[in-house]
Amino acid sequence: MSTPTPNSAEARDVMFHLHSQTNAQAHAANGPLIMERGEGIHVFDSQGKRYVEAMAGLWCTSLGFSEARLKRAAAEAYDKFGFYHTFNHKTPAATIDLAEKLVALSPIPQAQAYFATSGSEATETMVKLAWVYHTVRGKPGKRKIISRDRGFHGSTIVAASMCGMPRMHREFGLPLPGFLHTLCPDAYHGMQPGEDEAAFVIRLAATLEELILREGADTIAAFIAEPINAGGGIIVPPAGYFPAIEAVLRRHDILVLGDEVVCGFGRTGEMWGSQTVGMQPDMVALAKGISSSYFPISAVILGKPIQDALAEMNKGGEIFGHGFTNSGHPVGVAVALETIRIYEEMDVVPHVRAMGARLRAGLDALAAQSRIVGQVRGAGLMIGVELVAEPASRTAFDPALKIGARFDAEALRNGLVIRAMGDTIGLCPPLIIDAAGVDEILDLFGRTLASVEAGLA
Ligand code: PLP
Repeated sequence: MSTPTPNSAEARDVMFHLHSQTNAQAHAANGPLIMERGEGIHVFDSQGKRYVEAMAGLWCTSLGFSEARLKRAAAEAYDKFGFYHTFNHKTPAATIDLAEKLVALSPIPQAQAYFATSGSEATETMVKLAWVYHTVRGKPGKRKIISRDRGFHGSTIVAASMCGMPRMHREFGLPLPGFLHTLCPDAYHGMQPGEDEAAFVIRLAATLEELILREGADTIAAFIAEPINAGGGIIVPPAGYFPAIEAVLRRHDILVLGDEVVCGFGRTGEMWGSQTVGMQPDMVALAKGISSSYFPISAVILGKPIQDALAEMNKGGEIFGHGFTNSGHPVGVAVALETIRIYEEMDVVPHVRAMGARLRAGLDALAAQSRIVGQVRGAGLMIGVELVAEPASRTAFDPALKIGARFDAEALRNGLVIRAMGDTIGLCPPLIIDAAGVDEILDLFGRTLASVEAGLA
């Protein structure tokens, strides 16, 4: 990336295109990185340079970038019709098949599936369903939502309010009133001197309960969490975290909402991230891996108590006043069904465990050689490598050094796409990756780490 030449695609991009999650000044100065096409776990830019896409795009293309079966599934769905909807009792036939499939796979017993198109729509839908649930049970005052520092739940106004990141709130006057935040279960930085993980978990649960009591349990509807925080820096909660906080939440009649947008569909080495971390949600939001992001589709899986509340609400003839034009879109549904069929055929869970173990072992070996790796953490094929100034004392780098951003730039030069979250380097490659692909990531990661480290000498 360099200063765009006038009238080039780069210059037109700077002029006409507002990018998501991008610094406009840096973009104007350096221009975009234009990606042209993909092949398996690789993508190629407009100059023909090849990259290992070790972030699966945005934690999403689990089947890589060129799965022909998904293209065919979409084409066959388009042969039937380009669109149909799910309002007023109507539905495309395939949408029923996907609902049944998701319920069969679901971590929630006796569930139903509701469809939307983005992760944000799915997390917001869970909030509305939580409000319905409490209102119907005679507790309309239970409205507030608790989420966690460093969590990510989307970009629409309620979803952004639930995020625990300053950049999602700052200029927008968010969070909305009634959206509360509690501690992130980051044991690496969050434990106090003398505290072990078990004591840390007890403190996290106690802090949550203090918040609930301060606000009034009769004002709180739900708690939302990713099983493993993705965008917040790949934070794996300490053992026993979810059982401990869920005991608090159940005591106060607060629903547990699981955000499986990144963790779902095998990413963490179980079909659901909630299984990996021992979480028992009342509803979950799914997106990304549901269709390998080849079509925008998301879903909410809702348990029986929520369905009963909806039935109660509608018994006077009212309708469920919620829905998106593209909910249950037949093309998205066909792509999702084929994606899930491929996960089943490749036996995705053991494959992710094997490839994740290989990636983890290689990163641990690189960490052992490095003087700036503080921690390698994660589950399955979702791994974070935190770079710190002094591993022994867990002392972070001065933010002005922008170590994560340096690593990102150097990785791109080396042909590796990673995600720098502060100074934590995220890896979340397509789940189809094989041993050679893992080794290629390790080689490029090792070279990048060595040159970033050398630059600090
Ligand atoms: N939840 C999580 C955990 C995510 O990582 C994201 C997006 O990255 C979302 C929700 C929002 O999804 P979308 O961007 O499709 O609205």
